[in-house]
Amino acid sequence: MRDHIAPRVQVFTESVIREMTRLCQQHNGINLAQGFPDFPAPEALKEAACRAVMADVNQYAITWGTPALRDAIAHKARTFNKIPDVDPAKHITVTCGATEAMMAVMLSVITPGDEVVLFEPYYENYGPDAALSEATLRFVPLEGQDFRVNPETLRAAFNSKTRAIIINTPANPCGKVFTREEMQLIADLCQEFDALAITDEIYEYMIYEGEHISMASLPGMADRTVTISGFSKTFAVTGWRLGYAIANETITKAIRKTHDFLTVGAPAPLQEAAITAMGFGQDYYDDLLLKYRSKRDLMFEILTEAGLNPILPQGAYYMMADVSRYGLPDVQFVQRMIETVGVAAVPGTSFYQNKALGAKWVRFAFPKKPETLEAARVRLAKLPEAFATTMV
Ligand code: GLN
Repeated sequence: MRDHIAPRVQVFTESVIREMTRLCQQHNGINLAQGFPDFPAPEALKEAACRAVMADVNQYAITWGTPALRDAIAHKARTFNKIPDVDPAKHITVTCGATEAMMAVMLSVITPGDEVVLFEPYYENYGPDAALSEATLRFVPLEGQDFRVNPETLRAAFNSKTRAIIINTPANPCGKVFTREEMQLIADLCQEFDALAITDEIYEYMIYEGEHISMASLPGMADRTVTISGFSKTFAVTGWRLGYAIANETITKAIRKTHDFLTVGAPAPLQEAAITAMGFGQDYYDDLLLKYRSKRDLMFEILTEAGLNPILPQGAYYMMADVSRYGLPDVQFVQRMIETVGVAAVPGTSFYQNKALGAKWVRFAFPKKPETLEAARVRLAKLPEAFATTMV
């Protein structure tokens, strides 16, 4: 029998983040690989979800999203993201997570063979997203310890075949927060080459240094930007799978069609509950940032103590650490770390197309209770012993 697997699926592998989570479970480890909170979601949000289920909000919501939720997203987009004129009737699609939003968007705007510019290190999903939508990726490495954009390299990646650039700010895995100058540079190139900007802003409320800039807020960019975000990270509900895409009317029509035939719609009772979350005051976001900043500082201290040379992220909830000192490349390092001390992380090469650039990096996720991070501290202190034969 033939294997009956489409070529577009053969060009990517299973998620490395998923694989690390499985390995971690086998060894009863502390999972700092997959980026999800291990603390509870807000009480008011959980109660709203229970109420919605009990009130029988259990059938399909309208495909592109519960009207009151789209109204709340439009308000947030105008006030927090500073995106002008967002119309909930025409510009917003609620999806099953930012993950589905990205896939639905790419399937809706890519013609096979189109080029898509992507900075590396990049979030691993964008690789398969490009493969499934049959886009060709053009990688632009971010440079130095602060992951700067090199204007010449970026310009050289654009040409007449460029359909879009993907920007993830704050970025997974490196925590970079793109500066206004960098965003403007990208905006200028998008206009010059008539390309779209597809932004993934899922970590937009976790900014420790700098400011969050939404591409769609820059002059002339609202029409050629697709803004993606979601509820998973901001409200600690990664399992709810609720996200959204904001785009111009024509692109939104296409996204809504694709989204309909992929999933029909996002979970109706959870959309109802999300309206409650969107009503939280500024206190909620201040408190979120305060907690995440202290998790970041604690993680930095722990990794430094363990000899892992971390880079302090400007945003999001991941930390890249240089593991060279332990004498093994990323994949073997992580495997041995899970098996010996029982802490999981993600090998850097899964975020790089140029594997040579990724081999010294490992990503640690820190959206965890202080006691989880403290338990990791105790385990990571045993790294020198576990790597005694390879350490340099
Ligand atoms: N976004 C999260 C991460 O980067 C979870 C991703 C996933 O489960 N594939 O870890």
